[in-house]
This record gives sequence, structure tokens and C-alpha cells, in this order.
Amino acid sequence: MAGSLSDCHRRFLQSLMCNGIIVRSKAIALHRNCCEVHNTHYTRDGLDEFIDLINSHLEPLFMQIRKSVSEEDGLQYYALVNMAETDITRMSSDYADNELELFRKTMDLIVDSESGRASSTDILNCADSLNTRKMKKKETELLLTRLVRDKWLNEKHGEYTLSTRCIMEMEQYIQKIYQDMVKTCAICHNVVFQSQMCDNMSCGIKMHIPCVAKYFKGRSDPQCPVCNAFWPHEIPEIRDTAQVPLEMENTAPTPSTSHSRRRR
Ligand SMILES: [Zn+2]
Ligand SMILES: [Zn+2]
Repeated sequence: MAGSLSDCHRRFLQSLMCNGIIVRSKAIALHRNCCEVHNTHYTRDGLDEFIDLINSHLEPLFMQIRKSVSEEDGLQYYALVNMAETDITRMSSDYADNELELFRKTMDLIVDSESGRASSTDILNCADSLNTRKMKKKETELLLTRLVRDKWLNEKHGEYTLSTRCIMEMEQYIQKIYQDMVKTCAICHNVVFQSQMCDNMSCGIKMHIPCVAKYFKGRSDPQCPVCNAFWPHEIPEIRDTAQVPLEMENTAPTPSTSHSRRRR
């Protein structure tokens, strides 16, 4: 095993455990802060090496700090991921059986949709036909609030999406359960839920929204990168994250950080 963990590494890990997921700029700031507090030499580009050492100690515990790009905002995030339990049963100490069934059904709706979203109306309809135990409207709404608070789902204008953290932790499970239904992005080749899709029926590739924004930036005649068909969707604008000062990146719309999820 590589070098031993210092108090500096432990502080970083504890903070990540409390937050569950943090955007890269925050991880950099946290790394700097931990080094300052524990009087350790700090280098700005030393974060990944710092995390690799922590990971070498987490491996026997089947845990890992993983980094991934959010399909929400295109920014890079770090999360502490449980490698031992990658399926939905890991949530069973926090959620009842019928709540997990509804979460599964919400996932079904999201994976089955073109946009990677499920409306609250569709989720409420599912709540009425659960095999375990039906859920009333109020109960369902409270559950959805909890799932957002615990960072499994994101909500915007009454529509629910899989959070970055959920995808990071459950990607393997999702791939296994949904198999061919899960697509990968034609640009970055990562799994994609919230997307734009090529209208050409024989093509039908999907692209992440931030990938669409980057790929078509400055192009006046957007064409599908695979079949060259006209790209009929509105091209979203996304700020160039490389240009964004750290303070702004810190306030990026991320899954709520106001509550820390209990970890086991
Ligand atoms: Zn992509
Ligand atoms: Zn195409």
C-alpha cells in the first residue's frame, strides 16, 4: 500500500463524507484548507494524487472517491462511492419497501423517457399502482422531497432527474437492470439520461446537454455528429467552466448541499 494517511487526508475524507458530493473547485479549496490546517505542503494540481492515496486505503473497505462529470451542469464532481452495494437495496435502511418500489418506478420513467426526466404527475400515477403498498399523494410528495434531500433525485419545475451522485453510485446497477435502454453520449461516451436525441430514426444518438452546448458552440448549421442530419433542437448555452472564477463555480447549481446524507 502507498504511504499512510495523515490527519490532512482524514479531514478531507470526513468533509467529503458529510457532503456526499462536491464540485471540483470545492474539492480543490477543501484540499488547500486541509493542508493549511495541518501544516502540510500544498500544490494546486496535487488533488488527484492526494485522492489516489486516500483511495488506496479505502479499497479494502470497498469504498472509493470517484470523479465524474455532471450531466446537469457539465462540471466535474467528486463523491464517496460505496463499491460493495451498487444496487437499490443499499437504500433499504433509509426507505421502506414501497418507497423503494416507487423510486424504481421513477427510474423506469426516467430511463424510458427521451429527455431523461419524469414528471411529478407520472410519478404520482405510479404511486397508485404499487405492488407493495399504494402511496397517497401527500405521502408521495414527501418521499420525493426526501429523495431530493438525500441527493438521489434532482427536481426542477415539477420534473425529476437522476442526480449526479445517484448516477455515480448506481451506474453499474442501472446498466445491468436496463441494459440496452441506457444510452451513452455520442460526444463523451459516458452514460446519458438528460439529453438531446438525433431525430433521424435510423440514427437516434443521444448527447448530454452540456456536451451539445460545447459541441455546437459557434456552429451556425448544427448537424448530428454521427449521421450529419440537421440537429433540430435548441442549442443550450453553457458557460465555459474554464473561464469561471472559483467563487462562481462554487455556487453552481448542484444537488442541495444543505443536508448531509447519513452514510453507512
Ligand atoms: Zn456527453
Ligand atoms: Zn444522427
